[in-house]
Amino acid sequence: MPTGGGKSLCYQIPAVTLEGTAVVVSPLIALMKDQVEELSASGVPAAFLNSSIDHERARNVENALLAGQVKLLYVSPEKLVSQGFQPLLKRLKVSLFAIDEAHCISAWGHDFRPEYTQLRFLKEQFPGAPLMALTATADKLTRRDIIAQLGFHEALEFVSSFDRPNIGLYVRPGQKRLQQLFEFLEARRGQSGIIYCLARKTCEEVAEKLHQRGFSASYYHAEMPARLRSKVQEDFKFDRLHIVCATVAFGMGINKKDVRFVVHYNMPRNLESYYQEIGRAGRDGMPSDALLFFSYADVMAYREMIEEGESTPQQKELKVAKLERMYQYAEAPVCRRKTVLNYFGEPYSKNCGHCDICKHPPRQFDATVAVQKALSAILRTQESVGMQLLTDILRGSQRREIMSAGYHNIKTFGMGREYSFDQWMYLLSQMLHSGLMEIAYEKNNALRVTELGREILFEGKTIELALPEAQEKTARGKEKKASPPPDAPVKSKTESLRDELLNRLIQVRRTVAQAEGVPPYNVFDDPTLQEMAQVMPFLPAHLNEVSGVGTYKRKQFGAPFLAEIRTFMLEKIQDGARFPKMSHLISWDMYGREGSVEKIAARRGFAPITIMGHLLYAYEHGGDIDISTWLSPEARDVIQGALPLFEKPYVL
Ligand code: ZN
Repeated sequence: MPTGGGKSLCYQIPAVTLEGTAVVVSPLIALMKDQVEELSASGVPAAFLNSSIDHERARNVENALLAGQVKLLYVSPEKLVSQGFQPLLKRLKVSLFAIDEAHCISAWGHDFRPEYTQLRFLKEQFPGAPLMALTATADKLTRRDIIAQLGFHEALEFVSSFDRPNIGLYVRPGQKRLQQLFEFLEARRGQSGIIYCLARKTCEEVAEKLHQRGFSASYYHAEMPARLRSKVQEDFKFDRLHIVCATVAFGMGINKKDVRFVVHYNMPRNLESYYQEIGRAGRDGMPSDALLFFSYADVMAYREMIEEGESTPQQKELKVAKLERMYQYAEAPVCRRKTVLNYFGEPYSKNCGHCDICKHPPRQFDATVAVQKALSAILRTQESVGMQLLTDILRGSQRREIMSAGYHNIKTFGMGREYSFDQWMYLLSQMLHSGLMEIAYEKNNALRVTELGREILFEGKTIELALPEAQEKTARGKEKKASPPPDAPVKSKTESLRDELLNRLIQVRRTVAQAEGVPPYNVFDDPTLQEMAQVMPFLPAHLNEVSGVGTYKRKQFGAPFLAEIRTFMLEKIQDGARFPKMSHLISWDMYGREGSVEKIAARRGFAPITIMGHLLYAYEHGGDIDISTWLSPEARDVIQGALPLFEKPYVL
């Protein structure tokens, strides 16, 4: 199931309904805290045990566990397999075991963790307890490995669609990223988002640039002191900070549901990481965007890291292959969703309609002449130049490196001035991807013409490539250029009202969250607030109809939201707006001030019985209203005496 697909519900719901304690194994220590907080905000007793908590807190948790007061216990794999934990585990009534991030158990996965391989003992020592393994990122091989490693005999496998249709997928060439980023963010001011960067330094630089442009932005990476890291994380969670420029270390430990965008300032190392990282957007199901910048420089940086890494040659090969698939994804002019879902083995043949390729299919043009110029220049420089130098030669640059090597004397020098530097980079990367040339990694990344390239250069074969950006704009005339943010639709009066109420409810949420010390999305998430703004519940029972509001949350957080909705509706009624059940609201509101059915009836021009009907409606739906004065003590006694005759006795 993809990130944000509802994996945790698969064990949280059984954990709540079954007797005993569910033990959830997770390697993500920071995430445990979030999950426990979220469960607590919904009234579910949960706790966690890992290396981050001190002795005393651990003992408190243990006592609560033994007293049977914990429905869900989150525990790190190290803790679970430790000697100290075993006796405690044996004394618990375990309702089920859930192993989260189960792909970590497989050496075929992309995030292998050796301590996970010890988890087999669960099945051996607790043969009666249900055991489930969950992951957001596992191909077939990894899935098979999980089953074998955990010692399942007959495992039921559930594979749900990996599609996250609420995330729009956009990919842009990595030239002028900052400028592109500003445009993207300008359309999303005030929204929460993550910008992933490869290097620590980039995180800091990008955050600084955003800060200068007036965005609420900060950075996060592994080399910051722990105290600063957790401050950034908390500020982000509590909406005090909107944008975090981070290395991939960020996000694993965060359970924020209303992240509206994820940007990859640098390309991720494989499609698994990419999909996992963009999955942190839109976990509340609301429309969100993922923007990826790619460049061949990123590929080279990773290649270097892989080469210098400590993996076996076989693992290195696997990593390079996965890296190349990532680059292909970015470059191929094919529906993004189609590409990525097929990569995860999920057949998906239609075009999704909300990725950049579907929205703006790239125009192809006959690129034979441009390609020939580039290939010829490569040969005339004895296949000794890289992409940048080649571009400078084609554009006729006078820089010293070119002059001293005598490249200004070759025939193709300055023959490619019709394309800008960026356009050449775009064309060259497509040539590389189409196999017309290759990079000699062992020879300083010099370009080499392939057989396929020679066919175009010498045998009259033609080739089509995607038009580079600026040319595309000219080709499209006045048409708007491809840009991720969709146009804002014109709003109707009702929609504007809803928007206004939504903004007010967001304010209420902020106040409540601050007072309760919980992240805003743990009070009510965005979809819930939107639904409130839509159906306008003004009485407690109305809240039961709003999804995302359970009994616990209604009692804990509901009142200030209802009060705000009532105030809003009454204000707007004054201005002539109309709502369902508004007459009931008006009578109830007046009753609160006047305290007399007759007076209200006279003022509103209704029969008293109608007003009583309104008030009873409010009463029945949980409204705070005293109707005891409506009955004489004698009538009350008669009714009270008759109550036992009913199957379900009422209490007056
Ligand atoms: Zn698409």
